[in-house]
Amino acid sequence: MPNRNVVIAGCAVLGAAFALLASRPGQEATGSGTAWAAGKGANMIEKVVKSDAEWQKILTPMQYQVLRKAGTERAFTGEYWNNHEKGTYVCAACGLELFSSDTKFESGTGWPSFWAPLAKNVVEEHNDFSLGLPRTEVVCARCGGHLGHVFPDGPKPTGLRYCMNSAALKFVKAK
Ligand code: FE
Repeated sequence: MPNRNVVIAGCAVLGAAFALLASRPGQEATGSGTAWAAGKGANMIEKVVKSDAEWQKILTPMQYQVLRKAGTERAFTGEYWNNHEKGTYVCAACGLELFSSDTKFESGTGWPSFWAPLAKNVVEEHNDFSLGLPRTEVVCARCGGHLGHVFPDGPKPTGLRYCMNSAALKFVKAK
């Protein structure tokens, strides 16, 4: 089976290419992928890095499953899909401000949905083929926690639907 290794190598190359594509928005913002990774300077988010065991201690089992294992809560079961209060949604793991209630909309999906993050640099997006179909995973730019996915079927003005897990977020009510 001489072709098998070639196919596997080809997949690895493709994967690397997608990883590069996925990292582009961050590089555009800073002009340097290395500086972005270092997390220093204007416009950049200082990274929070913890071991798996540390995250497991800090987070509830549900938060851990979603944020660190890329799990998905069942639709209509989370705390925020039907929340209509004014405020800010922060990362449940590291507290970074991610979404405003001003961009939250009724998607009918049973997950809290937003048409934009609070700022371009608070989330990072990666290609995700885990279900065998291409999706775009959204993670917290500070701790790398899995938040959900973004789809191109949202409302104006962006046309995007950030489909988030309530378990990955904490709502801070506006004063
Ligand atoms: Fe975070």
